[in-house]
Amino acid sequence: MPTSDSALLAPTRYSIAPFDPRAHLYEVAVTVDDPDPSGQGFVLPTWIPGSYLMREFARHFVSVRAQCAGAPVAIRKTAKNRWLAAPCAGPLTVTAHVYAYDVSVRTAYLDPNRGYFNGPAVFLCPEGREAAPCLVEVTPPADVTDGPWRVATTLPRQSGAPYGFGSFRAENYDELIDHPVATGTFALTAFEAGGVPHTVAISGRHDCDRERLARDLQRICAWQIGFFGGAPFDRYLFQVHAVGDGYGGLEHRTSASLVCRRDELPHAGAADIGDGYLNFLGLASHEYFHAWNVKRIKPAAFMPYDLSRENYTRQLWAFEGLTSYYDDLALVRCGLIGAERYLELLGKTISNVLRSPGRHVQSVADSSFDAWIKYYRPDENTLNAVVSYYTKGALVGCALDLTLRREGRATLDDLLRALWERHGQRGIGVPEDAVPRLACELAGRDLSDFFAHYVDGTEDPPLSSLLADFGVSLHTRAAEGDRDRGGKAGHGKPPRCSLGIRLGPEQRVAWVLRDGPAAAAGLSALDTLVAIDGIQATPEHLAAMLKRRAPGDIVEIHAFRRDELMAFDVTLGAAPADTCYLTLDPSPAPDVIARRDAWLLG
Ligand SMILES: [Zn+2]
Repeated sequence: MPTSDSALLAPTRYSIAPFDPRAHLYEVAVTVDDPDPSGQGFVLPTWIPGSYLMREFARHFVSVRAQCAGAPVAIRKTAKNRWLAAPCAGPLTVTAHVYAYDVSVRTAYLDPNRGYFNGPAVFLCPEGREAAPCLVEVTPPADVTDGPWRVATTLPRQSGAPYGFGSFRAENYDELIDHPVATGTFALTAFEAGGVPHTVAISGRHDCDRERLARDLQRICAWQIGFFGGAPFDRYLFQVHAVGDGYGGLEHRTSASLVCRRDELPHAGAADIGDGYLNFLGLASHEYFHAWNVKRIKPAAFMPYDLSRENYTRQLWAFEGLTSYYDDLALVRCGLIGAERYLELLGKTISNVLRSPGRHVQSVADSSFDAWIKYYRPDENTLNAVVSYYTKGALVGCALDLTLRREGRATLDDLLRALWERHGQRGIGVPEDAVPRLACELAGRDLSDFFAHYVDGTEDPPLSSLLADFGVSLHTRAAEGDRDRGGKAGHGKPPRCSLGIRLGPEQRVAWVLRDGPAAAAGLSALDTLVAIDGIQATPEHLAAMLKRRAPGDIVEIHAFRRDELMAFDVTLGAAPADTCYLTLDPSPAPDVIARRDAWLLG
């Protein structure tokens, strides 16, 4: 049997090639020279670190066959993600066709214009050989329609020119599956931050001003490297895929995969940073911060990952929430945006949380634990029952930072650096109670009430009073329409009333506020509005009605529940003040200015 000492194990050999790009099929092979004499098992992960949902990658394996020295070997499934090959002397090769047509950053994609794959979606792991080195041959497609393809990955290269096809080597399976590979005719740009070479590979149609992008990303990366006192990698890659409509990112140890709208990328001649581009920079900043916080500073529960089942931690609020706090904070600290623009972003995050009644039902610690079945599996009841450990986690991070800063002994920066020194740099997992303990140690006092109320409890962190001590005023107002995400003062024309619903496409009710006016009258999520007071229920008519009528008025609503027409008399409520914006106090005391500058300027 193989031992756990990788030095004694022969490498596992992989190859991956486009088999039929038009049918979105890769051909992926894995070869074991000395298979288990009693029969060799092969398994595929069921989920991917950084995204807590059972993805069941095996469902896209459309055919699997095995052979030994040219002769077929029997292979059969023994579990949803496990294949068992009959005993043979070796070398044993298992070849699979893998369907790849997911544009997201999580699995795999292939068409005649572009390829992308994440290891867990395509590479079978031979059982007992998890520690063996892995050699991977990445082969170009036979015919491509769009110029010569190149390869962008941080998998350590063994052969082939830079960005060319060739062979790569990982120390073990864990490393193999943490370096996604992008292929195609992407645009490349490079910069250096903290003495480390960084590359951006942009695929998809776009007219990105790459020099501008490199300049701005450089500032963010340099700031983060300085924050942690050095880069924990010797190269870094941003894989960016530009699409018409889409958004998402996934962190890896030396790279990040990002999907963004092409109009969010900067275009030549754009003078300032628009909201879309700022959104993109925030995403890149977020995934980059993860290179420390979650890729190296990890929950003890993730060491090692068990990719065959759910792994539970109550700390995602710290790993995702604190990362969400710092992704935007990095933009102001590195000088890309000013304090007022940063406060706009923070105001949007506060608005997002204020509009989530589930925050009064679920704590961010519980949301972390149940991410597998709740946050990552949203439905029509999610807003009523679930809190985001990203957004509320970011506000908890902000409140903890301001609490520590106000007392003057420490900051959240110190806490992150201590986590890096004590856990990340030493490869020691973060125990479930480590963050509260560390915060108490740095503050020099008991902070258990803070964590009981805002992390394990469902209270809102007291941001209004905390921000006031930093010369920042928090205001709330009613939303002025579906596109009003907050962060700015309104235009003075908010609706007076609310139904307590959110309308989706085709007048379908996406969500009903529990205990709100519509719910009290009997309307349900997934009902389809037909008429309001006898007039067709269009979004425009609904918005106009909510401005014209007064709280307490009764409106008659007709709606289909499935195929049955129903009528409801709804007593309108007052429009909730669930939209936040922040302003800098005009003339704060000198000590307040000093505190505010230390927070926002670092
Ligand atoms: Zn994240």
